[in-house]
Amino acid sequence: MSIRIGILGYGNLGRGVESAIAHNEDMELVGVFTRRNPENVKVRTAGVKVLEASELEHMQDQIDVLVLCGGSATDLPAQTPKYAADYNVVDSFDTHARIPEHFADVDAAAKKGGKIGIISCGWDPGMFSLNRLYANCILPEGQDYTFWGKGVSQGHSDAVRRIEGVKDARQYTIPVPEALDAVRSGKNPELTTRQKHTRECFVVAKEGADLAKIEEEIKTMPNYFADYDTTVHFISEEEMKRDHSGLPHGGCVIRTGVTGMDNEHKHVIEYNLKLDSNPEFTGSVIVAYARAAYRMSKEGMSGCKTVFDIAPAYLSSRSAEDLRAHLL
Ligand code: NDP
Repeated sequence: MSIRIGILGYGNLGRGVESAIAHNEDMELVGVFTRRNPENVKVRTAGVKVLEASELEHMQDQIDVLVLCGGSATDLPAQTPKYAADYNVVDSFDTHARIPEHFADVDAAAKKGGKIGIISCGWDPGMFSLNRLYANCILPEGQDYTFWGKGVSQGHSDAVRRIEGVKDARQYTIPVPEALDAVRSGKNPELTTRQKHTRECFVVAKEGADLAKIEEEIKTMPNYFADYDTTVHFISEEEMKRDHSGLPHGGCVIRTGVTGMDNEHKHVIEYNLKLDSNPEFTGSVIVAYARAAYRMSKEGMSGCKTVFDIAPAYLSSRSAEDLRAHLL
């Protein structure tokens, strides 16, 4: 029997999860749920209905895992604990500084309901977090570096879109090339947040909006922009559509470290992603973790989990024997 998946929230990530489900034979999409009028939301999977989010009040026996695709800024802090009480859930919450409190909220709800809630799945947090952890365990004496981009950060674009007077926005994260070169050469440079990346925002403002106020609000936003050099460009809707409609991204996690009795040997570990579509890749990670949520729940586990808590074999549709024979 297939793992029955529901998607709550049908933006970029919701569509990315939908396409990832189509690539996994052991899963089926049973419904897309939205807070908007369902008549205005069109899904691409044949036979799948769009339903109002309120329908989730009575669909517990039809959905094995509910994937939450809302934004991290304001949707997920409320939605994930709410739905974790009734469903196994997976989200991609990416406000790093607030993960501990989000974990605590989801853990309380999921334990109460006897469900699994996997939070902060994707590539960062997600696959990058796992690679940082592995590299730290292998090279305890060393230094971590994470570079993002050049690419569109959906979390940051989402945060800008929620500012009053903003109609649409794209935010590009750009690594500083000199910083990247210095790290790869093994020089172990000490880099501040500001020295590693710059941020560039393209904003379509609503008519009559106060542009100076919007720019100031972006540049001073804590967690998202305050620690970076940020450039803001106001553009037209046509320019946005013409020049900024794709959602590419990527980046790398690097750890440089030493071994040997006199620290005489240097090592560089690098995990690199070049993503044509950030939401489709993130959706693919989420769907693998949805499988893990399903299996862990079947085994009687409950509570909030992150990528650190989940053994790799739970992610695969293949048997443990098959994995040992072919991928070990
Ligand atoms: P979107 O802004 O496209 O969608 C967020 C939500 O907005 C949707 O779920 C949807 O909910 C709602 N929405 C309202 N109006 C519309 C509309 N007209 N069209 C589409 N959606 C609408 O955000 P993304 O999907 O790009 O990203 C979601 C989150 O994913 C980000 O905030 C980010 O935190 C996270 N993310 C995490 C990554 C990671 O590596 N961990 C990587 C990439 C993203 P509804 O249908 O209920 O209205």
